[in-house]
Amino acid sequence: MGKALIIGAGGVAGVAVHKCCQNPEVFEEICIASRTKSKCDALKKACEEKYGVGEGKTKITTEQVDADHVDELVALINKVKPDIVMNIALPYQDLTIMDACLETKTNYMDTANYEPPETAHFEYSWQWAYREKFEKAGITALLGSGFDPGVTGVFSAYAQKHYFDEIEYIDILDCNGGDHGYPFATNFNPEINIREVSAKGSYWEDGHWVETEPMEIKREYNFDGVGMKDMYLLHHEEIESLALNIKGIKRIRFFMTFGQSYLTHLKCLENVGMTSIEPIEFEGHQIIPLQFLKAVLPDPASLGPRTVGKTNIGCIFRGKKDGQDKTYYVYNMCDHQECYKEVGAQAVSYTTGVPAMIGAMMLMTGKWNKLGVHNIEEFDPDTFMEALNKFGLPWVEDFNPTLVD
Ligand code: NDP
Repeated sequence: MGKALIIGAGGVAGVAVHKCCQNPEVFEEICIASRTKSKCDALKKACEEKYGVGEGKTKITTEQVDADHVDELVALINKVKPDIVMNIALPYQDLTIMDACLETKTNYMDTANYEPPETAHFEYSWQWAYREKFEKAGITALLGSGFDPGVTGVFSAYAQKHYFDEIEYIDILDCNGGDHGYPFATNFNPEINIREVSAKGSYWEDGHWVETEPMEIKREYNFDGVGMKDMYLLHHEEIESLALNIKGIKRIRFFMTFGQSYLTHLKCLENVGMTSIEPIEFEGHQIIPLQFLKAVLPDPASLGPRTVGKTNIGCIFRGKKDGQDKTYYVYNMCDHQECYKEVGAQAVSYTTGVPAMIGAMMLMTGKWNKLGVHNIEEFDPDTFMEALNKFGLPWVEDFNPTLVD
């Protein structure tokens, strides 16, 4: 069917590459391009060994690119001529990659919204500012096609389409019941992860944001496949788009589970200044403490072989159907070791890489074809939901779940 250019070769991109190779009718060809080309080559080698080469297999090429530079990206896109650019690098590259897609009139997708490197703050305004330009160029940008954001938006669109006249409350619950055996490590890019969890929390209520201190709101929840866990309210990007796209919504909250060891280490690192993004002078060099910390922490990609347990991520909806109160919980459980056996990655990368492939597939097959810049819940969810079952993220429905107070 077509060709995708995948930018990034980290934990999530690795899974997306495997998943493209498992779907060669759609992904006839992929080009993996990243800052460190050796990582792209290693991925190519692993996938060629696993899935084979030749007739009926996904053809893989690799390139080096610094995605901070629009001119390099434009030259690469003109060379590769992909049907879509899958941005699975870091949120800092979203705008440069969108600019290059505009210039070359190529469809775009990503898994995380733009964040300026110098401020630990993310919001959609920068990317939504491209709406008209993308529409005029006759191309589509699909924003946030990971798990959260991503599948959580698809779950919301599915709930709205099939089960509710009006959704009033959404609680997004992200539980990682995995244990990697380290006292402290992050399951995806440590810099992005620590910026996210050390920021103030917030939720959407009655048309406005309510801000909280970091980790101020704590709840317990008994997760299917995992058991009882502490979870904390965080600010999360899909709240911003769901607040616009789900009609009649009164409140949206996002909770993520953290173990006590993680929180104790994080507090200590914060207290000594290691999570700061302000540059400091060290032995004649300018360094950013958080980037230095990233360099000494375990690479998330190395956690795969040692992580055991499951993730459970989903959404609890409350609202009205035919004048009656209705509750609906839909979630996925994913086993770290099963993921590792299949694609050599732990479940956090897996649960993001699978929807990244599916989102790209939706655009490449023309199933989703709205021009402009769109969040995932703006598209019809049904084919995506079917694909989740087919490509390794089956979902479970519960019409009488325990609610979060
Ligand atoms: P990694 O750090 O493992 O990988 C990032 C990759 O991007 C690396 O290969 C890195 O190259 C490459 N990269 C970084 N900067 C550049 C650049 N300037 N030019 C080219 N390539 C670059 O991150 P993850 O795989 O864990 O995460 C990838 C994305 O997925 C992130 O945006 C993250 O926020 C998002 N995510 C989304 C989730 C969701 O559910 N929606 C959940 C988890 C993650 P190099 O190897 O040279 O550093």
